[in-house]
Amino acid sequence: MRWDEDHDSNDVDDRRGDSPLSGLSGGGGGGGFWFLLQVLPWLVQSPMGLMLAVGFVGFVGIRALVGGGAPAHEARHQQASHGPQSATKDASYHFVSFVLDDAQATWQRVFDENGLRYRRSRLVMYAGRTRTGCGLGEAAMGPFYCPGDERTYLDVSFFRELEQRFGAPGKFAQAYVIAHEIGHHVQKVLGTNEKLGRFGHKEGAEGGSVRLELQADCYAGMWAHGTQARGVLEPGDFETAIKAAQAIGDDALQRRAQGYTVPESFTHGTSEQRIRWLTRGYEKGTLDACDTIHAREL
Ligand SMILES: [Zn+2]
Repeated sequence: MRWDEDHDSNDVDDRRGDSPLSGLSGGGGGGGFWFLLQVLPWLVQSPMGLMLAVGFVGFVGIRALVGGGAPAHEARHQQASHGPQSATKDASYHFVSFVLDDAQATWQRVFDENGLRYRRSRLVMYAGRTRTGCGLGEAAMGPFYCPGDERTYLDVSFFRELEQRFGAPGKFAQAYVIAHEIGHHVQKVLGTNEKLGRFGHKEGAEGGSVRLELQADCYAGMWAHGTQARGVLEPGDFETAIKAAQAIGDDALQRRAQGYTVPESFTHGTSEQRIRWLTRGYEKGTLDACDTIHAREL
């Protein structure tokens, strides 16, 4: 993948150097539970709550990812030992800035072409934990989008997890994660959640949450669709995104976490589905191609 390594974005808030939040670690070894308790009802009940966060991986996936909240502790420890740092525009910042702007430029174009009005979203980089319009954000949650404040929250330590625990390295795999979250923002702007509500989808493998997540994957693919023409995509890049999608399907994560799958509890779709919709968006590059809401087959 090629990108502008000096790129600055007006839409990135870098909070990585901020002081650790005071008064939030009161429960001692509670780890990420406070936040998980907030988010869990959304994950098990319904994708309709507009104020609740939508993540990149499912709840069981988060458990598989953090193995009992370890990254949150790690992050806190790092902050404690190094103290507040001034935010520097490092390679991560420039990379995230580039992908965010490239993705949003894509959506601006798509909206223009369809006679729609795009509204830009912001992305918050943080380390460990941060306040969000959807409650406390924690690294243990993985990257997520908060519809309430229209921001994506990203602790880039997730990218290390993606590479080391899930065997999905590569910058384009990381860009897919960001583009997926921007896909949720596109849904917010288009009012997809409300439309989904009217359509009356239930939970589980065919349910509303899975449909929204697969659509966000398809939208990430729509972003990838134009990257070759812009000289961003290099041979082998898209395959790294496929590998990430393979690794974080609900079935793969559940098998990893508990040794078996429970399709009724799926929130993001299987590996096969995530790959299919990501690829579909990439190949077709149109909003219509990403209509998972009405799709008979996911
Ligand atoms: Zn998502």
